[in-house]
Amino acid sequence: MTTENIPKIILHLHLDGSLDLDLAVKWLHEDGYNYTKEQVKKLLSVDKDCHNLNDYLTKFTIPCSLLTTKERLEEATYTLLKKLASENVVYAEIRFAPLKHQAKGLTKDDAIKTVIKGKEKATKDYNIDCSLILCCMRDSSKEDNLQVVSLAKKYQTALDLAGAENIYKTKDFKYIFDYAKKENIPYTIHAGEASGKDSINSALDFGTKRLGHGIRCIEDKETLDRIKKEKVLLEICLTSNYQTEAIKGKHPIEELYNQGINISINTDNDTVSNINITEEYNRILKETNLTIKDLVKCNYNSIDYLFTSNEIKDKLKSIYKNINI
Ligand SMILES: [Zn+2]
Repeated sequence: MTTENIPKIILHLHLDGSLDLDLAVKWLHEDGYNYTKEQVKKLLSVDKDCHNLNDYLTKFTIPCSLLTTKERLEEATYTLLKKLASENVVYAEIRFAPLKHQAKGLTKDDAIKTVIKGKEKATKDYNIDCSLILCCMRDSSKEDNLQVVSLAKKYQTALDLAGAENIYKTKDFKYIFDYAKKENIPYTIHAGEASGKDSINSALDFGTKRLGHGIRCIEDKETLDRIKKEKVLLEICLTSNYQTEAIKGKHPIEELYNQGINISINTDNDTVSNINITEEYNRILKETNLTIKDLVKCNYNSIDYLFTSNEIKDKLKSIYKNINI
């Protein structure tokens, strides 16, 4: 078995941060900007000048300004899933913020319906299952975020909280997860990336069983023990963590895995981070002592945490049980 043909489960992937470069070139041209693919890559991907999450987040401005029509959102979703299927991803959870696609008058409802349409078309055409996660944003109003929660209920998606973690504290978003719990909406929370234990503990207080990143639990034994005790899964994005300098020095992925914490492996943003999932797996094999068998195990162990039906979970479990490493 090679990293190419491991069946992969992706839990942490942003639609706007994973925009296909050819589509971006085409749409920029339609909007009056003539750039080469190489130039667009520079505009949409981080480089050595990225030193924190806030630098990293500047790369989302152009994709969000392009993804403002139904046609484009549908095509971006379809194209991303097509690409993931070609990388042997068997199940993906794609997340996006409906609030960020409204510049040209698109409603939040229409943005969600359109992404669902692209997803349904791609899952029919390719051998991949997919669930959607709606992101509430740290820089959005309470009213807007509560509307996103009700839309998650309406369209039966999961929820997330994203944005500048060190500027807008996690503890201030309890209202989102109180409402989500009341409505039985599953959720994950970005925490422990640009901020440390306080942010993680707030997310755990809100009852999350998954953390977007969460890697900074390594800085505090009590928080690490709590994650173990509460059996919380960490959605790890190694390359992105290096780019945002969430981690200085060696990434804790191996230590977290060895301590028995459930981890899933993700790219965060294929385009912004300029990486795909197979390259991310290769990097982990190169930089740690983890093996292909460990990577397969991470995928298998993540299945109970997926925001999907038991039927799909059983189907995925049987894929991994039949693997001969
Ligand atoms: Zn993320």
